[in-house]
Amino acid sequence: MQQILPSYKDPLFSILLIITIILVTVIATHGLSIYSKKKSKNDLLEFLKKFKNTDCTFDLNVTIFESNMLKPLILLAEGFNSNGEYHKAINIYLYLIDNINDYKIKNNLLNSLGQLYLKAGFLERAKHIFIKILKYSPRNIESLYNLSIVYDMLNEYNKALLLIEPLDILKEDTENFKNYFEYKIVLTTYKNSKKQKIIELEKMIKNRPSLYRIILSDLFILDNHLAWRILDYTRIQEVLDILWMLPKSKLDLDIISKHNTLSTIYYAKGYIQKPYVQSDIFSVDMLAISKKSGFDRADLNFLYLCDICKQSFSLSFNRCSNCMAINSIIVEGKIAEKYKQTNYSIF
Ligand SMILES: [Zn+2]
Repeated sequence: MQQILPSYKDPLFSILLIITIILVTVIATHGLSIYSKKKSKNDLLEFLKKFKNTDCTFDLNVTIFESNMLKPLILLAEGFNSNGEYHKAINIYLYLIDNINDYKIKNNLLNSLGQLYLKAGFLERAKHIFIKILKYSPRNIESLYNLSIVYDMLNEYNKALLLIEPLDILKEDTENFKNYFEYKIVLTTYKNSKKQKIIELEKMIKNRPSLYRIILSDLFILDNHLAWRILDYTRIQEVLDILWMLPKSKLDLDIISKHNTLSTIYYAKGYIQKPYVQSDIFSVDMLAISKKSGFDRADLNFLYLCDICKQSFSLSFNRCSNCMAINSIIVEGKIAEKYKQTNYSIF
């Protein structure tokens, strides 16, 4: 043995010792990495077992996975998704997540699965999926936003506000996001105190322009006189439908008579007899002109567009149900034939 190994005083011994330490370190690190990956995979599989159920009618249990099946199966899942067959789409995503090893693809699939659960109304499942993704990828912007949507639907607004900090770190513009959830917190906090709720909403509408439409609509219900007092004449187009659908009993004729746009709106509506045609809103002016010439069978119908995804809706919204954007609504008034009964109102 003494002949094979050099003496510890020999410089060659030190070199051999360093090489041995490096080799042991490399092998240990590699082993730990394999163990960690395996543990993470098992952890995820255990997690996904909770979501498997017998309602999923698309059976993939007998199919052996091959990598070239990924794209066709995603397309198939998307097809089921757009047809509203969420259980079948969910089953395919669960199958793919079980069989895909690539970390990035797996995260994308988990995100799609979370969105499907969200769409299908399984809010707790969606929440757990997004929290799981963020545990391993805390910088996943899509999952941060998706989790905020789930918190919104579960009325967990304070938890949604906690997501602002990571989004700020990721350089996202969170002002609209913050305003919206703080507004929701005001509604919940002062649920039983109308007076305090009005005070808080008045403060918010003055300081946060993005909440103008949503708060003005609330104020016309909570304190009609205050709503008329703080009406912004430069932003009438944004709330034209709200003003149009106000019942006659809620009109403030002193304020309306001093403003041409408001006078024209309510002349066109039929609430004011003195003719006005000066609103600078094309559909309202056309309606007022036709009324002035004796034609009284036209009305205004409203269409609501999302400024982000450009989808149109027949009902007003605070959050777009297609792309889930907040306060992205654009109001469009269209002239239509008057129905026999047009006194429907949201107030
Ligand atoms: Zn949208």
